[in-house]
Amino acid sequence: MANKLRKALDREQWEITIVDKDPVHYYQPGLLFIPFGIYGKQDVVKPKASFIPAGVNFIINEIERVDPAKNRVYLANGQTLDYDFMIVSTGTSIRPEETPGLLGNEWGKSIFDFYTFNGAVALQNFLKSWEGGNLVLNIAEMPYKCPVAPLEFVFLADEFFVKKGIRDKVNIFYSTPLSGAFTKPKATKMLGDLLQEKNINLIPDFYLERVDAENKKIISYDGRELPFDLLTIIPVNKGADFIERSSMGDDLNYISTDKYTLRSEKWSNIFVLGDASNLPTSKAGSVAHFSSDVVFDNLISSIEGRPLMAKFDGHSNCYIETGFGKGSLIDFNYDTEPLPGTYPVPGIGPFGLLKNTRINHYGKVMFRWMYWHLLLKGKELPVDSQMSLIGKEL
Ligand SMILES: Cc1cc2nc3c(=O)[nH]c(=O)nc-3n(C[C@H](O)[C@H](O)[C@H](O)COP(=O)(O)OP(=O)(O)OC[C@H]3O[C@@H](n4cnc5c(N)ncnc54)[C@H](O)[C@@H]3O)c2cc1C
Repeated sequence: MANKLRKALDREQWEITIVDKDPVHYYQPGLLFIPFGIYGKQDVVKPKASFIPAGVNFIINEIERVDPAKNRVYLANGQTLDYDFMIVSTGTSIRPEETPGLLGNEWGKSIFDFYTFNGAVALQNFLKSWEGGNLVLNIAEMPYKCPVAPLEFVFLADEFFVKKGIRDKVNIFYSTPLSGAFTKPKATKMLGDLLQEKNINLIPDFYLERVDAENKKIISYDGRELPFDLLTIIPVNKGADFIERSSMGDDLNYISTDKYTLRSEKWSNIFVLGDASNLPTSKAGSVAHFSSDVVFDNLISSIEGRPLMAKFDGHSNCYIETGFGKGSLIDFNYDTEPLPGTYPVPGIGPFGLLKNTRINHYGKVMFRWMYWHLLLKGKELPVDSQMSLIGKEL
């Protein structure tokens, strides 16, 4: 956004400031590969400062609170910033403390997350010497970011243990609050079949109540127990705490956002981008990317006093690593579920929607380069931000 806005707005009239508490940028899709030793630190970590364009202020500090009535941001160091317009893009993060028993003695010993860099590295170290047992992947609650990442994790785990020669000693369980492998029928069928093919046990409708770390089991609200030797968990996800302190969000600290214009439903000079919103689509980087075109157009319209004409369609697009050098791809929006077909060129592809192919895997591999070199620099990608039905089998 800063790259696009700096080019579009007169420097004498408009100051742009980015506030971020963390000087480091993580390529989050890459965290998935760290537990299996496929990626290292250099693949996923870069300083944010290298991506901030000239003419944009960059403040490394925590936002403590926002007063939207006064158009003022309060930082942890006592500094205040006044704004004419604000884009909130503070994402979502894991909150293991929300589940009783999760942060006990076993956290970091036999219980790990892979949604943080430190969690992914600790899991990599653990897996180096693990000799097998029950591997339980659990999704604590909906919504969580990147809905396909937990599936990718168990697919890659299957490959990892096969190659290590201990797959027969590992039982893999995929426990989810959903009633199947995914949310929509066609993708649920395709991904559910893949789980079965790889001998991964799907445990649906599992709403995590607590973790009994001492006896190494997770317990659902309806009293089911699942014993583990290794638990990899996607803990409760929540938006930033300052949203709660500023009374700007819902129970999970997500900001109520118009799903088409991407403007806050309450404040006309605030736009919301990415995981921080309550949009009824995936919390995913692809969504943040596609919706940035709409935020850009509508912010410029607001500045110029014009009606907001750009409309977001909920477009989401995710490569899914399925293991053994193959991958799948889903492309969908608010109204259209993931469908089979070809992408982006109808009939040609090269990528196959809801197919399990080598070229889809290469798409995911290539994406890391595109992320660092094109996406973060605000360059255009050869992909439309609106979802297209062309190439999809209806
Ligand atoms: C393991 C994993 C795999 C993933 N794979 C994919 C994938 O394949 N495809 C895909 O599309 N998406 C994927 N995602 C999801 C994707 O990374 C996120 O959806 C995306 O990064 C969201 O962007 P965002 O800008 O909304 O939030 P973030 O990228 O999380 O950025 C939020 C920023 O806000 C800052 N911040 C938060 N609170 C404060 C505060 N109080 N003060 C100051 N700064 C603050 C943070 O430091 C951070 O820099 C994956 C995520 C994970 C964890």
